[in-house]
Amino acid sequence: MAPIPKEADYLVLGIGSGGIASARRAAKYGAKVIAVESGRMGGTCVNVGCVPKKVTYNAAALADSFRDAKAYGFGGYEMPSFDWPMFKQKRDAYVKRLNGIYENNLNRDEIEHMKGRAKFVAKDEVEVALEGGGTQRIKAKHILIAVGGRPHMPDIPGKELCIDSDGFFELEQLPKSIATVGAGYIGVEMSGMLHSLGSKVDFFIRGETLLRHHDPMIQEVVTKEYERIGVNVHKTSKIVSVEDIGNGLKRVNYEHTDTGKKDSVDVETVLFAIGRVPEVEDLHVEELGLTLNKQKHIVVDEYQNTSWPNVYAIGDVCDRGFELTPVAIAAGRRLSDRLFGGKEGRHLEYENIPAVVFAHPEIGACGLTEPDARKKYGDENIKIYKSQFTAMYYAMMEPENKGPTAYKIICAGKEERVVGLHIIGANSAEILQGFGVAMKMGATKADFDNCVAIHPVSAEELVTMT
Ligand SMILES: Cc1cc2nc3c(=O)[nH]c(=O)nc-3n(C[C@H](O)[C@H](O)[C@H](O)COP(=O)(O)OP(=O)(O)OC[C@H]3O[C@@H](n4cnc5c(N)ncnc54)[C@H](O)[C@@H]3O)c2cc1C
Repeated sequence: MAPIPKEADYLVLGIGSGGIASARRAAKYGAKVIAVESGRMGGTCVNVGCVPKKVTYNAAALADSFRDAKAYGFGGYEMPSFDWPMFKQKRDAYVKRLNGIYENNLNRDEIEHMKGRAKFVAKDEVEVALEGGGTQRIKAKHILIAVGGRPHMPDIPGKELCIDSDGFFELEQLPKSIATVGAGYIGVEMSGMLHSLGSKVDFFIRGETLLRHHDPMIQEVVTKEYERIGVNVHKTSKIVSVEDIGNGLKRVNYEHTDTGKKDSVDVETVLFAIGRVPEVEDLHVEELGLTLNKQKHIVVDEYQNTSWPNVYAIGDVCDRGFELTPVAIAAGRRLSDRLFGGKEGRHLEYENIPAVVFAHPEIGACGLTEPDARKKYGDENIKIYKSQFTAMYYAMMEPENKGPTAYKIICAGKEERVVGLHIIGANSAEILQGFGVAMKMGATKADFDNCVAIHPVSAEELVTMT
């Protein structure tokens, strides 16, 4: 006899950023919710993403401060040593505490949750291979797919000798030397952090610049800055194989994509951060006919509806293009508002979403890049305001130790509505949030200028630009 399936109003697959947010909002409306997770509570953000990354970034920022402090008159010390194993242990413990908080929150909201790997057996029924053995089938009125993604590794000889971004968080020691690969934000962040903490970094990118989806000004400034601080950026280069050469070293063989010239470098660790892929295979949805795009992201409409009735997808697994924790959370909560809270039409608008990169220095972006704005509105309707300057933080430093600050405001139409904002410089991540609110409210350049400046800070430049 077939096992009797459990029943729920809402079945949530994946207890990561989006899944837990949506599950808890649904439970608050009184829905009977079951949530399934095959890994650690909290998903990518808590375990191998935003949280341990930002903690590591804070350590890197402290290392930078120790170096900078000398220019302000501090002395009597060499660069303090950094105890990576102790740091890692404390960071792991912090993450573990967060795992526990997530679990408590589910319990408090009376959300039934189970550990196991979920797969669809029909469009409205899921089977979970339970962690402790056995299976459980679940039927639900509504099913949310929030299974996120995983790092992609290249198919090259020696790939098993390399790590991905998950592996970065497992490193037991700070590598003395590392080859990093990938011009996206994860590669840029990890290369920067490792460099600040004292690793010798060889950073491989296929093109000429870092962060190729960002505004050209950001690409140019950040690439130059990484070179200035001493990251060895290998442009137009591709790693073709990796060999173990003993003594804890790996030989990275690479070629220049423009000239075909071959070369190699020997390092302790090789880290690939070349993109992420949606975690869809185990769900068996493709076989059952769910619509995916070419990259296997689940295709959704603006309400997060998939091609199956009453099945939804949010976060990194869907095809909306913003792979960020707050985006997954916002989409998940709005979906539950719509399904269980009677808030018809509630959905996330995927525009003017502020996003930051914890690079060296920090980067913030909201809205369109200059090329996209020109394409959308036409050259004649776009006005650009730009400012590049040296922040007062560097006043006490020698010219060769001064980092860049660069801001760009992109305005459209006669009323000069701000449709793009791109900033690079110290504290950009904190600066951007408030400007994100202004842009969401449809701020114009005149609104920016009407705000009295705060002095002396870098951000005042954003309300005084001519
Ligand atoms: C290194 C790194 C740094 C990042 N930094 C930032 C940052 O600073 N700011 C930011 O906003 N975003 C950041 N992100 C992105 C952010 O982590 C993701 O956008 C976010 O976690 C996506 O949430 P999600 O709910 O879609 O999926 P996830 O959080 O990945 O959760 C999905 C969950 O589903 C589970 N799962 C998968 N398949 C199954 C299955 N078949 N059955 C049961 N469970 C399953 C997984 O184990 C996982 O726990 C970073 C990501 C990385 C990798």
